[in-house]
Amino acid sequence: MSNLKNQDPDIASIIDSEVKRQNNFLELIASENFTSKAVLEAVGSPLTNKYAEGYPGRRYYGGCIHVDEAENLAIDRAKKLFKAEYANVQPHSGSSSNMGVYLAMLEPGDCIMGLDLSHGGHLTHGSKVSFSGQIYNSVTFHVKKEDGLIDFDDLLKKAKEHKPKLIICGASAYPRQVEFEKFREIADEVGAFLHGDICHNAGLIAAEMHPSPFPYCHVVSTSTHKTLRGPRGGIILLGKDFENPYGIVAPKSGRVKMMSELIDAAVMPGIQGGPLMHVIAGKAVAFKEALDPSFKDYIKSVLENAEYFAEEFKSRGYNVVSGGTDTHLVLLDLQNKDVTGKQAEHALDLAGITLNKNMVPFDPKSPFVTSGVRIGSPALTTRGMGLDEVKIIVDLIDKVIINNEDKSVIESVKQEVKELCKSFPIY
Ligand SMILES: *Cc1c(COP(=O)(O)O)cnc(C)c1O
Repeated sequence: MSNLKNQDPDIASIIDSEVKRQNNFLELIASENFTSKAVLEAVGSPLTNKYAEGYPGRRYYGGCIHVDEAENLAIDRAKKLFKAEYANVQPHSGSSSNMGVYLAMLEPGDCIMGLDLSHGGHLTHGSKVSFSGQIYNSVTFHVKKEDGLIDFDDLLKKAKEHKPKLIICGASAYPRQVEFEKFREIADEVGAFLHGDICHNAGLIAAEMHPSPFPYCHVVSTSTHKTLRGPRGGIILLGKDFENPYGIVAPKSGRVKMMSELIDAAVMPGIQGGPLMHVIAGKAVAFKEALDPSFKDYIKSVLENAEYFAEEFKSRGYNVVSGGTDTHLVLLDLQNKDVTGKQAEHALDLAGITLNKNMVPFDPKSPFVTSGVRIGSPALTTRGMGLDEVKIIVDLIDKVIINNEDKSVIESVKQEVKELCKSFPIY
């Protein structure tokens, strides 16, 4: 980065500090990961210079021969990875991919149903602070108090009452597998479309260690930077393309347009202009990595580490929401530990352990305080950490949570974290 250092030492030094932070801190945020140097090179390439509005072979700009090749590779690999018939690799983020899905499938005011934000859902699943809850009439469903699992009875009752056009399954803080088949039964019963938002579980699905959303979901969206370990971005997938159910016809031929055409139009020009070709190239690189057999080993280790986190916390008297995990994340309910999610996050941050406070189901505290923390294994697994390290990390977290106001304990944990991280360098 000598060019940057010479030209803009301020930004160069900020990047330097951030790389040091990533190397010296323990990253336990469940939605984060460390992408490969190959992906970073693609994302930092001159492909960023190219305007390519439109799609491969039908762009609004000249000179797209090479970016067309990159996008076609990204599409082909995404289709192969998820066994999908259609992929749109242009959405700038997970949220943008959801916006594209809604624009293609809904009219303003239509009813959508998603998991409540405070029960593990995502902002874009109908929260009132998001476009999804402002443009659409959103109704949320919940998890059950006794076991933290999706309350399908609640969902069915509300679905019958509100007749949603779209039901969204998938979440941001749900430690269990998404039961796509059960969601589809309910969607069919009320005549709704099923949208699988697999942002969190995409890597698990790609590695075939989580059920596939296909053939159950009519449409699927995901971010590419979480368990999938690619650059920051999103994609939209169709397991099987189908004729759009709204009777929209192509003006010239008079034939009914396919759903893929509606999604393409929703993404560009519907919500976006020029695609980020450097990021699309980075996505292609990440998909190639995920298609390699070594990615299955990685995800297997992610799941083993997460399960061990849950076991080790339970053995130390922690309440683990839903009693465990079958994904990459664990949700701790700290109400019996006399500490809030906010206090725990803060004390752990001072000790070099990065995670996020999180609402637990039926949380009496506000989203700014919360009663829990979310812990994910994808990033530390990418560094090469395994069960031995997980055990050490649980001990360190426990120490900080119990002594969350003791500066000397926090300082000593910070040194231990630094030592541990030294043996697992990232960049
Ligand atoms: C992370 C996430 C998103 C949003 O992705 P961004 O890239 O942050 O916009 C959407 N849905 C779910 C379920 C997520 O976990």
